Amino acid sequence: MSKGILTVVSGFSGAGKGTLMKRLMSDYDNYALSVSVTTRNPRPGEEEGKDYFFRTQEEFDRMVEEDAFIEYARYVKHSYGTPKAYVEQQLSAGKDVILEIEIQGALQVKKKRPDALLVFITPPSVEELERRLRGRGTETEEVIAGRMRQAVGESEGMEKYDYILVNDDLDICVKQMHETICSQHFMSCRQKEFISTIQKELKEREETLE
Ligand code: 5GP
Repeated sequence: MSKGILTVVSGFSGAGKGTLMKRLMSDYDNYALSVSVTTRNPRPGEEEGKDYFFRTQEEFDRMVEEDAFIEYARYVKHSYGTPKAYVEQQLSAGKDVILEIEIQGALQVKKKRPDALLVFITPPSVEELERRLRGRGTETEEVIAGRMRQAVGESEGMEKYDYILVNDDLDICVKQMHETICSQHFMSCRQKEFISTIQKELKEREETLE
């Protein structure tokens, strides 16, 4: 069985990544979403093992020592990391695995695994980004300003991603994301075995040509 594609998804807070991931999981059955470990506290409604594995800093550091993460990073005073075992297991089973992580982690993954696909999700404009951040209606002006400042820094890393997807219409963006990931399966570097079989068979056939 061919191995799955490892896709790393990042984007500004307010880009709609969460909704996009949920739709991708419910619309298609070839995906596995990695659950990260974090040292931050759960937000209302978040579940252990579903949204995150919530751990203490000591537990997190132990996992780092045990080399249990594909990548890990600090983000706004907390540690976040992607457990290796689940990702490896799902990829071997042929699932396309998605990591929804921030940019430092995304670049670590690309360095370790150059065949990983990096996708950056963005709203169509800054105006729309701000509108979505305000639209949640739950955040203070200070928090919104913080998220906008964070976005400035994150935008500087956009060129390092393989694809930029604009999340304007959710239905379209879900399809584009799925098609982008699917197309990776057809890359010649992923079909080495198939190519060498065809080449070998053609050579054998050549010997019997009249
Ligand atoms: P939040 O605390 O809002 O859930 O996530 C904060 C940021 O951490 C988001 O940009 C999210 O994508 C990122 N993040 C979540 N899990 C991981 C992880 O395992 N590794 C890294 N590097 N970033 C993560």
